[in-house]
Amino acid sequence: MIQFHVFFNLSKSYNPVVLSEFEIIRHYFSQASPTAELGVGDDAAIIAIPLGKELVVSTDTLVSGQHFLADTDPLKLGHKSLAVNLSDMAAMGATPRWAMLAITLPKQLIKENSQWIGEFAKGFYTLAQKYHVSLIGGDTTSGPLNICVQIMGEIDQGKALLRSNAQPNDDIWISGCLGDAALVLAHQQQRIKLQPLEVEQCLPALLTPTPRVELGQQLINYANSAIDISDGLLADLGHILDCSDVGAIISFNAVACSGVLQNYLPHPDVINCLLAGGDDYELCFTASTIYRLEIERLSSELSIPLTRIGKTTAIKGLTVLDSDGSELMQENKGYEHFYT
Ligand code: ADP
Ligand code: MG
Repeated sequence: MIQFHVFFNLSKSYNPVVLSEFEIIRHYFSQASPTAELGVGDDAAIIAIPLGKELVVSTDTLVSGQHFLADTDPLKLGHKSLAVNLSDMAAMGATPRWAMLAITLPKQLIKENSQWIGEFAKGFYTLAQKYHVSLIGGDTTSGPLNICVQIMGEIDQGKALLRSNAQPNDDIWISGCLGDAALVLAHQQQRIKLQPLEVEQCLPALLTPTPRVELGQQLINYANSAIDISDGLLADLGHILDCSDVGAIISFNAVACSGVLQNYLPHPDVINCLLAGGDDYELCFTASTIYRLEIERLSSELSIPLTRIGKTTAIKGLTVLDSDGSELMQENKGYEHFYT
């Protein structure tokens, strides 16, 4: 593609400080990709899908100033840009295999911080290696900082976990704790004041989320539907309900949260972080009640808390019950309150 703001300098006086697009690719994004037929370096990559498998594909973009602060640690940003994509694979029950990275970098950033790309690449590759994911291609341009990752995974044909297959009377489960990422973001934006130790405890949730890849892969044996919580529990559970044509009743008290978040309940903004904050990258899934023991066993095997927060219903609508059984929230009656 023609670029109007290229890195490389066509004049003879080569500036060693500003790396060319090709140098960036060669130095930072060209690690071997043994799981691809052809990786970085040609016009396109080639991958082979084993017989009986389906290709599962997703993409997510992180925009500077929108999804992260411009001065975010590049090591952590590299991690997060892949983690949010791995989380989509987890939600489908797929095994992530290949990634593409389209990155737009401000010239100024490269000039002022020569470590930036190396740190970003390190964060990205470290997480990729953990899941045996190969970076097989991408695009490198200059402009406002923007990171777009495409992830590809595989799954046995017909086995993917969909949003559309929840059944009435399923148990609704969540993994991990919700709300910490939104809580610490609220602190950074001075909407809530946390103690320094609390900030330290919540920051990893925002900056280096752990995608629940192993959990998703196991859940294909038990769950009827799944989604990863990126936009907040209510919104994302709402997608399952809409797609599956069912409703749900959940208990506010059952929604697992950290001790830090617990300290600030029942502050309405903190309830909001927990139920509608987003950036959790935990899984919300539904499963038949017959699988309770298996799912609890899975929880201890994987050392991931899995909590039952309610049930799906044949009658549509989403109700959140308070500890005394009263309606804390009912869709269409104050639902918007939980959306920032
Ligand atoms: P083209 O001009 O044909 O689009 P490029 O020069 O953009 O090719 O890319 C050359 C090779 O480097 C391609 O294989 C491409 O997929 C890969 N590539 C470019 N940018 C990245 C990146 N940020 N991460 C990984 N691979 C990249
Ligand atoms: Mg290109």
